[in-house]
Amino acid sequence: MMSYNSSGDVIAAIATAAGGGIGIVRISGNGAAGIIKKIFAANKKIKKFEARKLYYGDIVDPFDGRTVDEALVSFMYAPNSYTAEDTVEINCHGGAAPLKKILELVLQNGARLAEPGEFTKRAFLNGRIDLSQAEAVADIISAKTEAQAKYAAVQLEGGLSDIVNEFKEIILNCLARIEAAIDYPEHEDELGPASPEIIASELENLIGQAVKLVKSAEAGKIIRDGINAVIAGKPNVGKSSLLNALLKEDRAIVTDMPGTTRDALTESVNLSGVPLNLTDTAGIRETTDIIEKIGVERSEKTVGAAELIFLVLDGSEPLDAQDFSLIDKIKDKKAIIIINKSDLPNVITRETPEIASLDKPAVMLSAKSRGGISELTDEIKKSVYSGGFDAENRGVLSNIRHIDALNGALEHLRLAKETAEAGFAVDFISIDLTAAYERLAEITGDNAGADLIDKIFSEFCLGK
Ligand code: GDP
Repeated sequence: MMSYNSSGDVIAAIATAAGGGIGIVRISGNGAAGIIKKIFAANKKIKKFEARKLYYGDIVDPFDGRTVDEALVSFMYAPNSYTAEDTVEINCHGGAAPLKKILELVLQNGARLAEPGEFTKRAFLNGRIDLSQAEAVADIISAKTEAQAKYAAVQLEGGLSDIVNEFKEIILNCLARIEAAIDYPEHEDELGPASPEIIASELENLIGQAVKLVKSAEAGKIIRDGINAVIAGKPNVGKSSLLNALLKEDRAIVTDMPGTTRDALTESVNLSGVPLNLTDTAGIRETTDIIEKIGVERSEKTVGAAELIFLVLDGSEPLDAQDFSLIDKIKDKKAIIIINKSDLPNVITRETPEIASLDKPAVMLSAKSRGGISELTDEIKKSVYSGGFDAENRGVLSNIRHIDALNGALEHLRLAKETAEAGFAVDFISIDLTAAYERLAEITGDNAGADLIDKIFSEFCLGK
């Protein structure tokens, strides 16, 4: 375990959100236990506060002997704590006044106020977690959907770090063999071969794995930010009815969604774990005589910006010029065709030539009876997470910083492979291999500079 050579100062902050019944003041640093002893009056028979036990007592102002609050206090000793330093947590009543007073007492008795993210920053600087894991803590705190939280938890457990570290090992191993082949050509037997052909084939394998991880970024970004989807279609095909059906579906699954207002154009929906930012092009109601004119126009505009399009068609009517115009617009986009009103006699189906030839998923659905919604949800999952994404996967990229670094590493790996294939001397390969290694090390933060570290942790909330 690396040890943290700070000035040895003890930091403290209120770790809980305002307004709860219970609040926590967290103290970290060598000396934390000394501070608490000055302000905590517990059973006098207790000789030593043992780790991970709760001790009951009063928080007392040593200045005037007045009791501020009753509290439960726990102790965690280095390195077995969140920060890997001695840590004390005071559980007290959650009101603003007692929390503030207790924090004040802690500060008066030797601690200083922690900066945002400083507890997690210490966990990182003390080597307990790497940078990508620290970033996962921030993601868990800000997660809005279960999938976001689940994914961030995988990253916190080291899912991404493990993969990146494996890549780094492979590169280091190549570098070591190249180095050895140059310095001690007679020892090739022990160190493994370093011919350009062999290195090139190993790099090809590694590039394949890295590309797979880069591909997961698309799914990772969706999990983090949601996918911008649009419901398009000419007037009266059932766009609003579909949106309502999807919102109902959402409420059936998620109970803590804030009330959605029907006049908002974009709504956030969580469909079986797929977060959608859904824009209904019929969201603004116009008088019937002009809706005909502007309906398609508006659909076309929103369609241009969308990442996923639901093109709604009225299955009980033949396709017309307005439908064809929209079908044409979505040809090159990620889209799902929804043949609505399946409760009425069907005039068009998936086999209708103009639909079949699109080569896009098509779902027969009734927004009215909600038949076919689960089939639609399956199709959404399939199109969004093409490539078999699953939040349980051990590593998924979602953070722009990580994606940039991995793409950079990939570029150097490709150059290294080209050099190897061109049959240049192996020492030329090591230049790009070293650069690729350094880009990967940015993800785990091995040699992260103070600026980057400060930037990342400044985005945390206080007390974390
Ligand atoms: P929009 O203009 O595309 O938003 O269409 P609406 O959602 O307002 O629906 C237009 C009309 O079609 C309304 O009278 C709906 O009740 C009706 N409608 C929508 N979906 C269905 C469906 O699945 N089956 C039937 N039979 N009618 C539907």
